[in-house]
Amino acid sequence: MSSFAPSSVPTPRPGVLDIAAYVPGRHAAPGAAKIYKLSSNETPLGPSPLVKAAMARVAERLEIYPDGSAHRLREAIGEAYGLDPARIACGNGSDDLLTLLAQIYLREGDEGIVSEHGFLLYPIAIRAAGATPVVVPETNLTVDVDAMLAAVTERTRIVYLANPNNPTGTYLPFSEVRRLHAGLPSHVLLVLDGAYAEYVRREDYEAGIALVEGAENVVMTRTFSKIYGLAGLRIGWAYGPEAVIDAIERTRGPFNVNALAIEAGAAAMGDKAHVERAQAHNEKWLGWLTQEIEALGLRVTPSVANFLLIHFPTEGEQTAKAADDFLFNRGFILRGVAAYGLPNALRLTVGSEEANRGVIAALIEFMRGRNV
Ligand SMILES: *Cc1c(COP(=O)(O)O)cnc(C)c1O
Repeated sequence: MSSFAPSSVPTPRPGVLDIAAYVPGRHAAPGAAKIYKLSSNETPLGPSPLVKAAMARVAERLEIYPDGSAHRLREAIGEAYGLDPARIACGNGSDDLLTLLAQIYLREGDEGIVSEHGFLLYPIAIRAAGATPVVVPETNLTVDVDAMLAAVTERTRIVYLANPNNPTGTYLPFSEVRRLHAGLPSHVLLVLDGAYAEYVRREDYEAGIALVEGAENVVMTRTFSKIYGLAGLRIGWAYGPEAVIDAIERTRGPFNVNALAIEAGAAAMGDKAHVERAQAHNEKWLGWLTQEIEALGLRVTPSVANFLLIHFPTEGEQTAKAADDFLFNRGFILRGVAAYGLPNALRLTVGSEEANRGVIAALIEFMRGRNV
């Protein structure tokens, strides 16, 4: 018989209590007449109109368990991208899959590589698996492939790369992603997170399908939360080598994608025209916002996604914090990114025309008020 100290309590595995819980973008701005939520990279166009009808049909039979293998959804994704549905796994948001990959491939004492201003879910997932995040410096707010490769040790098991990255909005050309992959030992899993892939308008960009196809150690994750406008439903997917998909299938929740999500996702995937409208809207307003903000004397990191990073002076009264409060009180909710190591910047999501014009008008007022 073992004896227990009277004070013993359930104890999380090492690393869990080192996690700083993920803080989502704010949503309420009490007092403002109208609120523009520009803090979480959601689309101003909302989901495809086909989604509502698909969900209404499922809503009639919610007593039935969902199809645990999300066949219809995987078929729809496979058809849209020309992929084998057997190599697609779906999740309750891509967060679900990104976290599961850490659980599957990391042991205590292992290391996972992330970049300096990379998406904050990755270190959380790595720590939750009992492993150690290794944070690699960036160059010009862009992932530095040489530095990533230099950080590889015999303990490295996983490398997370958001491309384009959130919150910087910068990206790596596919040649650089290939170079990163080529430099990794074959037992290290490269996770390519393409949450914003649909927004990118660059000849030298690819989300990574071709790389997954030719390698055993690359997996790509994608989401319905951004351009498809279904963040509230939680749908993500991964395309990977058979062995990686098999491991996900064994470890995921048996009904990790709910019935509404399966039908809504399949309907959304089929509406290419809606995605094209969202791309066109973004291209127009991303450019416009960048110009307008730069005209105010503020620096903007060139973005290929549906958000941009605005840099404020480090001294004086026009700080990021002051701007955040000023805009918040007028109903424009941006995202402070101090937790990402960017205390002097705010992230702004491309919104509706009304939101975009409104936030620029408010920024002009802020900059003027502080200049006189
Ligand atoms: C928004 C985002 C996701 C998507 O997360 P979901 O769980 O699918 O909503 C994934 N990666 C990055 C970098 C993101 O910004």
